[in-house]
Amino acid sequence: MMSTQGNTIDLDSARKLLQPASSQQRSLPELHQRLLQVLQTSLEIDRVLELFFTELQSLIPVDGLEYQNSTHDLQLQQGNPSLHRCSYRLNHGNDFLGELQFSRAKRFRELELSNLETLLSTLLYPLRNALMYHEAVSCALRDNLTGAGNRLAMDQAINREVQLAIRNRTPLSLLVLDLDRFKQINDIYGHAYGDQALKTVVDCTRQCLRAVDGLYRLGGEEFVVVLGNTGLEPAKSIAERIRSAVENLQFKIDGQPLPMTVSLGVAIRHNDETGRELLDRCDKLMYAAKHRGRNIVVSE
Ligand code: GH3
Ligand code: MG
Ligand code: MG
Repeated sequence: MMSTQGNTIDLDSARKLLQPASSQQRSLPELHQRLLQVLQTSLEIDRVLELFFTELQSLIPVDGLEYQNSTHDLQLQQGNPSLHRCSYRLNHGNDFLGELQFSRAKRFRELELSNLETLLSTLLYPLRNALMYHEAVSCALRDNLTGAGNRLAMDQAINREVQLAIRNRTPLSLLVLDLDRFKQINDIYGHAYGDQALKTVVDCTRQCLRAVDGLYRLGGEEFVVVLGNTGLEPAKSIAERIRSAVENLQFKIDGQPLPMTVSLGVAIRHNDETGRELLDRCDKLMYAAKHRGRNIVVSE
C-alpha cells in the first residue's frame, strides 16, 4: 500500500529550523553548508535537483525525487519513485516554486523529515534562480504572439535533429505550413482579428502533433514542424491531419464563420542533406502546393 505524508513548507521559515548539533544532527550543518555551496554551481533546474538528490543521500537515503511545477510546465525526476512518500509545496513569499516529492521503500522517520525540511531551505535561491533562468531561456526561444518556437529555436531544433538522425540512422521529416490568402483576413477584418486567426490556427496545428514534435514560426504566417524519427508516410499523414483540422476549424469573427485553410510542403531528409537544404526543399514544396490551388499537401 502506498503511504503519502503531505506537507506545505515555506522555505523562508524552514531556513530557521537549523538544529543545534547532536549525534544524528552533527552532519546536518555540514550537509547544509555543502548544499549551500554546490547548489550555486548550476542554473539548470535538472542539475540543481540532481545535486540536491545526490548530496541528500549522505544524511537521508531516498530512492526517488519528483519535481512538478505546472506554472512552468515542468515535470522532472531523479532516481526511481518508491512506496513511502513525503511531499512539499515550496513557497517563497508569494512565489510558488513547485512541488517536491521524496520517496523510498522505508518509511521516513520524524527526525529525517525535520532534517529534510531544514535542508530544503538550501534549495530556495538556487531553485528560484533556476526557474527565472528557465523562463528567460523559454522567452528567448518563443514567439510571443503564437507561443510557437521562434527562428532561433527552430534552427537549434533542426540542427539537433539532423545530428540525431545521422547518429541513430533514423528518418527526419519536416513540414512547412503557410496560411492561405491570409492577407485578405487582415485587409477585411483588421490586424487584431488577423492575430487571433493566426493564434487559432497555431493552436489547432499543435493539437494535431505529438508532444515531442516541435512547432516553430518561420516568419509571418509561415510555420515549420520538425518531426524527429518520422518517415515520409507518417509525416504526410500528420500534414493531412493538420490541413483537414484547419479547414474544419469553426473560427468566427463577430459571430460570422471565417473559413481558413493552409498549404503544406512535406519532405524527408535525404542522405548528406543539411538542415538548411531540407528546409529550403520543404519550403519549395509548400509553394508548389500554393500553385496547385492551395489547401493541399505536397510531398516529394
Ligand atoms: P498565400 O495564400 O499566397 O500565402 O497568400 P497570403 O495572403 O497568405 O500571403 P502574403 O504573403 O501575400 O501575405 C501574408 C500576410 O500575412 C501579410 C501579413 O500582413 C500577414 N501577417 C504576417 N504576420 C502577421 C501577424 O503576426 N499578424 C497578422 N495579423 N498578420 C500577419
Ligand atoms: Mg500565406
Ligand atoms: Mg507566407
